[in-house]
Amino acid sequence: MDDDEDIHCPSCYARDFVKNGKVRKMQRFRCRPCGLNFVNDPKHRWPPSSKMLNLVLLQTGNQPEEIAEAARADRWLLEAKEHHPWFIRALAEHALVTVDQDKETMETALTRAWELYAFVTNRNPEHFYDSLASTLYLDMFKIGDTRFREELMEWLAAHSSSPNDSD
Ligand SMILES: [Zn+2]
Repeated sequence: MDDDEDIHCPSCYARDFVKNGKVRKMQRFRCRPCGLNFVNDPKHRWPPSSKMLNLVLLQTGNQPEEIAEAARADRWLLEAKEHHPWFIRALAEHALVTVDQDKETMETALTRAWELYAFVTNRNPEHFYDSLASTLYLDMFKIGDTRFREELMEWLAAHSSSPNDSD
């Protein structure tokens, strides 16, 4: 079982919550940022970055040995291809880490996020850019600090068309 610190809101992934009664003997929480009431359902225990790491391992040929784990990884891959919110969040977090910890530019952070997308889904991200970019950039904006937001806004202003057109 994961630790309590892995509990997060299934809607916005915030870890900022208060206890809010019990449902069917399970602790219920209320998310402070978005107000959602949720129970700590085991299927929500995996943070987006952990799911993403598992998909990266899957693509490098590390198929889980346990059947249940393999089935879970397959389900996550399907969700990734459907651009599920946890997958968007994992891409956004990846970009944030690239800027904050690796001290890279926003350009590099976004390139790496799209490379991660391509690697995990085995797809050409250009075909999905229009449907995904605005959602991804909005999520990055949500989780970034002020400086990160400013850099993102600057980059977006300088690249108002899709990367396909800018060459
Ligand atoms: Zn929330």
